[in-house]
Amino acid sequence: MDAGKRGCALIIGGSLGGLFAGSALQAIGWDVEIFERSPATLESRGGGIVLQGDVVRAMRFAQIVAAHPLGVRSKDRLFLDPQGNELSRQYMPQTQTSWNTLYNTLKQAIPEEHYHRGAKFIGFDEHANGVTARFEDGRLVEGDILIGADGGGSTVRGLLLPDLSPSYSGYVVWRGLVDESKLPKAARDQIYEHFVFQHDFESMMLEYMVPGVDGSVQSGHRRFNWLWYLKASFGTELDAVLTDRFGVRRSHSVPPGAVAPLQEAWIRQMSEERLNPAFRALVDSTDDIFVQAIMDFQVPQMRFGRVLLLGDAAFIPRPHTAGSTAKAAANAVSLAQTIASTPDLEHALRQWEQQQLAEGMHMTDWGIGMGNQIMNIAQH
Ligand SMILES: Cc1cc2nc3c(=O)[nH]c(=O)nc-3n(C[C@H](O)[C@H](O)[C@H](O)COP(=O)(O)OP(=O)(O)OC[C@H]3O[C@@H](n4cnc5c(N)ncnc54)[C@H](O)[C@@H]3O)c2cc1C
Repeated sequence: MDAGKRGCALIIGGSLGGLFAGSALQAIGWDVEIFERSPATLESRGGGIVLQGDVVRAMRFAQIVAAHPLGVRSKDRLFLDPQGNELSRQYMPQTQTSWNTLYNTLKQAIPEEHYHRGAKFIGFDEHANGVTARFEDGRLVEGDILIGADGGGSTVRGLLLPDLSPSYSGYVVWRGLVDESKLPKAARDQIYEHFVFQHDFESMMLEYMVPGVDGSVQSGHRRFNWLWYLKASFGTELDAVLTDRFGVRRSHSVPPGAVAPLQEAWIRQMSEERLNPAFRALVDSTDDIFVQAIMDFQVPQMRFGRVLLLGDAAFIPRPHTAGSTAKAAANAVSLAQTIASTPDLEHALRQWEQQQLAEGMHMTDWGIGMGNQIMNIAQH
């Protein structure tokens, strides 16, 4: 690429990380091509996400205007005991959004012809002035840089760092979403518009409200989003949790509608035995429970010449940091700003890596410490 010339970025992965990167680079005048392996829309698995400042800044940077307010405000943080008694309450307002809301909002910024569905990346060749990406369907595409925004199981990273892969933390998170109108009144009255926790020995459940499936934040149209962290030991126990209703052992999550009946019966039984009445009502009212294994991952580098790793492909922070999406947003904005600040692309990429690597390390280390403390796991 000649000094001063705007470039073209090939982005692998069309989830939030890919969309943040695409919209930020577009905002500095770059051409972007996003390649998503899934042929269908990605909307169906979206749960709740705490709306952090970095996400809002990324939207502003890309001049994206949302059709609805991005999130639902919660007022108090409320800690309940298993009987439903209030242990403590703190006024701590914050805003929660959902994966669907962010995805749909960011997606509007990328013209359809630059978002390629059903495009499975399989490899790349780097040459003096750029990168050629290879896809399963035989396509070859040229760009100035290639960005691996292809998540925790990143193919791009697998080619660059074949000996590294995410490690299992020792616990999983069971999750669900309930339409506001479906929750029985007594439960709704207690948890409505609050961020609510029940923390017991080796277990934590929490709940907050998120926009409706259509992005609406109107009262009566939103959803309760719950997460319940429970231990599952590596081996037989984890295998059982991650084996879906069709007998397939999933790598790290079982989506809504695919949890095995025995596992679903088990978590519903656990809910009866261990949860406070409002949380029990939440689990009872959930049609499609889903589950994800909590994984840890850190890369030693994010830049490999003209190939970069961003979002979950680079770092998987524990969800207690409420930071994965914010980190992907920060990676993307910082990349665009650094590239725009100098005509020397190589220098910009080096600078970007130095800063983002340190932040990724810090967030993942912090999350591991916090998660292990919450779940009573000995630190190594
Ligand atoms: C459908 C979906 C729902 C989610 N729901 C939530 C949620 O409710 N709450 C939450 O906190 N986080 C959720 N996440 C995770 C959240 O998006 C990430 O933690 C964070 O935003 C950073 O994401 P990422 O884009 O780096 O990785 P990911 O979100 O994992 O996205 C990676 C993308 O790359 C694609 N991909 C992978 N390999 C290839 C390949 N070889 N070629 C082309 N494309 C490839 C995947 O299909 C995927 O769309 C969800 C992710 C997905 C994909």
